[in-house]
Amino acid sequence: MSYQHIQMPTSGDKITIQNDKLVVTDNPILGFVEGDGIGPDITRAAMRVWNAAVEKAYGGKRKVHWAELFLGEKAAGIYDGDYFPAETLEAVKELVVSIKGPLTTPIGGGFRSLNVSLRQDLDLYACVRPVDYFDGVPSPMKRPEDVHAILFRENTEDVYAGIEYESGTPENAKLAKFLREEMGADFFEDAGLGIKPISPFGSKRLVRKAIQYAIDNNKDSVTLVHKGNIQKFTEGAFRKWGYELAAEEFGEETITEAELWDKYDGKRPEGKIVIKDRIADIMFQLMQLRPAEFSVIATTNLNGDYLSDAMAAEVGGMGIAPGANIADHIAVFEATHGTAPKYANLDKVNPSSLMFSGSMMFDYIGWKEVSALIADAFGKTIKQKIVTYDFARQMEGATEVSTSGFADALIANL
Ligand code: NAP
Repeated sequence: MSYQHIQMPTSGDKITIQNDKLVVTDNPILGFVEGDGIGPDITRAAMRVWNAAVEKAYGGKRKVHWAELFLGEKAAGIYDGDYFPAETLEAVKELVVSIKGPLTTPIGGGFRSLNVSLRQDLDLYACVRPVDYFDGVPSPMKRPEDVHAILFRENTEDVYAGIEYESGTPENAKLAKFLREEMGADFFEDAGLGIKPISPFGSKRLVRKAIQYAIDNNKDSVTLVHKGNIQKFTEGAFRKWGYELAAEEFGEETITEAELWDKYDGKRPEGKIVIKDRIADIMFQLMQLRPAEFSVIATTNLNGDYLSDAMAAEVGGMGIAPGANIADHIAVFEATHGTAPKYANLDKVNPSSLMFSGSMMFDYIGWKEVSALIADAFGKTIKQKIVTYDFARQMEGATEVSTSGFADALIANL
């Protein structure tokens, strides 16, 4: 495919998919989008860390060949006002694996969020967010070291599907009439109406990814989080379909929590993954009081949106929380925070959210040595109390450094 403004590197190999698996050479081309606001600062810093960690891990045998792709304000400048150029979407598909900084969503009508567009257009159905504690990171928890979990949030359905009808519109009146007269529903006059679709297909493919992750990474449980006690045919159905999928496709590898107690007296048999479920409200409490009981979490879109931020807060907050949006193979890794416009181009903010999203990306392509080196160097840098402003304000005796200064310290610790 030829592109108008995207320049593919002249060396390196595109990632391909064969037999349902990624094929990654020692010289893969990976896409990156700098992002808006603080995006350029954190991308510059994180990219220096990634390249240094790859060099350290493989001594020149492996190298990433970066292809810059454009979205957001930078894209608008290049593509004559187009914030979401079609060729960027094509390149993300062609390259299979990419990483992006945050993007501005102008508030107001007529502008679809670029992040939501990307997820929908590429059907990136699993939003994946790990939360891990590093010794010394400021945390509100008494035992933050117990927090070691990864959340799989369904990314395409639920109230996020955008099926909403505004109070006072003819569409709203039509739907209200149908619901009242044909379905016997009862609700206040002029209520805004939203539809929450949750399907077996959408639920099962998300839970499949979560269980496969648990198998590949030796995790002991997968918890289905839902609000099925109230929303029986959507949230409750998600729970039901999750258990069904586990039994149908992973019967050998999994047992349910009920079986754990009925058959095994509460002692997990070696190698089995326990499938359990928790109601969303109690899950917020449990993640604070007994986080050690949870390792992999699979949940619906809205629950996952709230829960992932709450979990991130337990281990240092959005400044270091990484994330990814993943389809069957195509993956877009991203900083989970926004563009923090007041800090744009000040070389001030914490680059760790994007940097650790990059670590997830290296794990995804099978270069686990890179993420291990970055985690180790991050741990050392935090122990030395060399941190950006967000951590410095919560730590006694910290040395505050800039975004680029933090990358320098981390690279020195690799
Ligand atoms: P935000 O950009 O995440 O910033 C909120 C606050 O979080 C910042 O003021 C800062 O806190 C802190 N923060 C964010 N990133 C940080 C970092 N790397 N290091 C340290 N602290 C960090 O949220 P927002 O102000 O609500 O949104 C701004 C724009 O970003 C909006 O246009 C929104 O639509 C967009 N957005 C994009 C994404 C995405 O692209 N994935 C996600 C969310 C929001 P202090 O002020 O306390 O220092």
